[in-house]
Amino acid sequence: MSLKRVGVFGGTFDPPHLGHLILAEEIREAFGLAEMYFMPCNEPPHKDRDDLTDAKHRFAMVVAATLHNPAFVASPIEVNRGGKSFSIDTVRQLQEAMGTDMQIVFVTGLDAFVEIETWNEYREFLDLCHVVVVSRPGHGFDEIAKLPEWIGDRVVDLRDSDAPPSEQFPDEGRRVFLSDAVHIDISSTDVRERIAAGSSVRYKVPAEVERYIRANGLFRSGDVPREVAS
Ligand code: ATP
Ligand code: MG
Repeated sequence: MSLKRVGVFGGTFDPPHLGHLILAEEIREAFGLAEMYFMPCNEPPHKDRDDLTDAKHRFAMVVAATLHNPAFVASPIEVNRGGKSFSIDTVRQLQEAMGTDMQIVFVTGLDAFVEIETWNEYREFLDLCHVVVVSRPGHGFDEIAKLPEWIGDRVVDLRDSDAPPSEQFPDEGRRVFLSDAVHIDISSTDVRERIAAGSSVRYKVPAEVERYIRANGLFRSGDVPREVAS
């Protein structure tokens, strides 16, 4: 049986927006991924917001956002597992479910990857999956040089290369790919603020996501979002 690769794209997705979808499709195509799993976290490991929207709403919005791309999958793994969402647990769980004919390509931003030494079981994580590190405004790929040498040895800098990413997977082991993938100037923070201010989010989030936000009264200032019936 031939080897298949699937992408894992994690985030809080509060809410998912066009920047997420454009990036995911670009990476999926460039790396020849059979599917891209959108993985809304239950609780981020480094909790930085106390106003995070209920995980069930965030998952439902990811379902809405990914509806029209047959290669996009909304994965409830982290939401269903509960607690803090550690990437190693997710990758292990997926790998076990999918078997050894499938490799995982984990997509993450440079801002998160430079902190890789603080991730749970990061050595095991880097042995289990390939990682695509995408640029983030305000961060430079030179920050990678501060990481331990053994991580640097696994780096494939796609910016130096003319060969397509999909042809750069090794026969053995896992790699860390540095990618200058597109970054559209949209953030979930901006979408939340626009909704709170009563401004338009048209063309920033898919129409289905906007409908969900409005139907459930999410992100309205001074309002408590409605509970999801469970
Ligand atoms: P927030 O404003 O709440 O921090 P966000 O827009 O950064 O939200 P996240 O859910 O944190 O969205 O994003 C998950 C991942 O998606 C990020 O780690 C990043 O790699 C990527 N990402 C976010 N926004 C964009 C964008 N506009 N273009 C490309 N990639 C993005
Ligand atoms: Mg963010």
